[in-house]
Amino acid sequence: MAATILVVEDEPAIQELVACNLELAGHRTLRADSAEQALRMVRDELPDLIVLDWMLPGINGIEFARRLRSDKRTQTVPLIMLTARAEEQDKLAGLETGADDYITKPFSPRELNARVKAVLRRRSPEATDDVIEVTGLNLDPASHRVTGNGTSLPLGPTEFRLLHFFMTHAERVYSRVQLLDQVWGDHVFVEERTVDVHIRRLRKALEPSGHDALIQTVRSSGYRFSVN
Ligand code: CA
Repeated sequence: MAATILVVEDEPAIQELVACNLELAGHRTLRADSAEQALRMVRDELPDLIVLDWMLPGINGIEFARRLRSDKRTQTVPLIMLTARAEEQDKLAGLETGADDYITKPFSPRELNARVKAVLRRRSPEATDDVIEVTGLNLDPASHRVTGNGTSLPLGPTEFRLLHFFMTHAERVYSRVQLLDQVWGDHVFVEERTVDVHIRRLRKALEPSGHDALIQTVRSSGYRFSVN
């Protein structure tokens, strides 16, 4: 799994340690020394996850987390709090602001990577390498292969991402705008009808095994991946 992870930490040595470990685990990192800098970076690019130090100069970690959670665009970004505080009270305060997990310093690189992986899996399953299988349709993110009842189904990169998103978010209707946000990425200016073009290509690619029927059009709402 390769995710883009923003590391917000004012102590250079710890920032370096955290970022290097995440990069060794295959992730791309963005680094900020303060919450103010992180807020600017998040405006430019929405990361897949944020590792956030609690004690920061200026806006502290808790306040930064609150701001992320109160903004519609950033409220669902997974957040791991990094702190020297181990008291139960602080832990609760951190989780109440919407942190997904909590790591107490000092921590081992292995623990950090395991928690990052667990949070990514829980919050954005499309960012992990887990093989997904739905009624004979099999998608392997690591090898970028899709098979339908054992037959290879070649997909373009956008169709692959679209199918990966659908398979990890089944039985829910997504509007074209939501799909653009989730699959094409944040801050990408693409026309809504582009979604329809790629849906059409995706269905055509899934036709040989009959799995095109899983991609349903929901009139005036958008699209849904459903086995029903
Ligand atoms: Ca700090």
